[in-house]
Amino acid sequence: MEDEIPPQIIVLVTPGMGHLIPVIEFAKRLIFHHDFLVTFLIPNDGSPIKAQEKLLNSLPKSINYMFLPPVNFDDLSDDVEVETRICLTFSRSLSSLRVALKDMVTTSRVVALVVDSFGTDAFDLAEELHLPHYIFITSSAMWLSFHLELPKLDATYSGEYKDMPEPLKLPGCVPLHGVNFVDPCQDRKNEGYKWLFKRKTQIYAVGPLIRTGEASDGSECLKWLDDQPGGSVLFISFGSGGTLSNEQLTELAIGLEMSEQRFLWVVRSPSDTAANAIYFSAQSVKDPFDFLPKGFLERTKGIGLVVSSWVPQIQILSHGSTGGFLTHCGWNSTLESIVHGVPLIGWPLYAEQKMNAVMLYDMKVALMPQFDENGLVRRKEIAQVVKTLMDGNGKEGMTVRNKMEELKHTTAAVLSENGSSTKSLCKVALKWKNP
Ligand code: UDP
Repeated sequence: MEDEIPPQIIVLVTPGMGHLIPVIEFAKRLIFHHDFLVTFLIPNDGSPIKAQEKLLNSLPKSINYMFLPPVNFDDLSDDVEVETRICLTFSRSLSSLRVALKDMVTTSRVVALVVDSFGTDAFDLAEELHLPHYIFITSSAMWLSFHLELPKLDATYSGEYKDMPEPLKLPGCVPLHGVNFVDPCQDRKNEGYKWLFKRKTQIYAVGPLIRTGEASDGSECLKWLDDQPGGSVLFISFGSGGTLSNEQLTELAIGLEMSEQRFLWVVRSPSDTAANAIYFSAQSVKDPFDFLPKGFLERTKGIGLVVSSWVPQIQILSHGSTGGFLTHCGWNSTLESIVHGVPLIGWPLYAEQKMNAVMLYDMKVALMPQFDENGLVRRKEIAQVVKTLMDGNGKEGMTVRNKMEELKHTTAAVLSENGSSTKSLCKVALKWKNP
């Protein structure tokens, strides 16, 4: 009798697009290929969530979602880091999660709880309810390897990691200097640092999970791309929450102009913190166009398009006119570029992005601009790196393009019917159905 009731997976999700998007792809595979029902429980702080709601409202009917009651952050200062905010959103939602989970366990056939890497506080509750529990990691295998190594490093090195004399050598990974560790490691007294020590054990490599087959939304930037020569446009975006300082925004604009290359730039209003509240809302509060250098839009008309709203990134990356991507190296953006074979300029801002950038550079699928002593990339450097990537005949640009093309094929193989990722997901699904 029980077997006739479809098995249900509960997924506890971080309310930011960078987490929500891959988790949705994961859920889609579970419902379409393995006949599960999925329910997302979403802790939140009541921030505007327009972009997320749009995405959630377009879900297939076997995926349900429910926002938990918003937590209160009146006691937090405005400059608290994004990671700390996310951790607290989870820990302060535990009592409402308990109520929701208990209810679902009694009314449906819940077979597992999946959390993303911020949600491990819910594991005690899962154990209490005898629910198998898993972490869905929205970042790279290198990031995971780093986490597994961290307790050892914490026990053997007592200073701040940025001062570590030797880089950390993770198996099979590029040596990693302390300054490139994930943000919460840059201050060991930080609340987010403690959260990094949660245990992660049995591993299933099911990625890359990116959105596919999105219908064209007829947006202005896709129409503009249709009119550009093949492989000629550099796409520039710092993800859902990445922002530049006012000075850096000016340098980037002038650098792009000096490069004389075609570009499509998703611009956000400047801010002095690299990730801010827009991580959750994915929308600038002020008009970003007001911060561009005077006359920039007129002078670059024809070769550049600047937009300030959410863009259909998958469609841009799969468009024949797109020849490069200047990215903050968020893991979704990275995977989306790899799947579509688009070579990169890595410009990391926060979270684990420096780690991602170092790896992509080492794999020769990304170029990296030099930051000056004030942490800025100057206009000349920007013009140079953009020209190097986009120039059809230069050796360096060619190497990066070819390497990315190779990686694209490797990725297609792991995702094919008999590929390792497909098989890995089958294994987990089988385990959940037959505990
Ligand atoms: N994205 C998009 N349009 C935008 C900005 C972002 O579709 O205008 C998507 C992008 O394709 C990716 C996700 O949002 O799937 C951003 O995730 P990522 O891990 O790259 O960065 P984060 O936003 O988490 O820093």
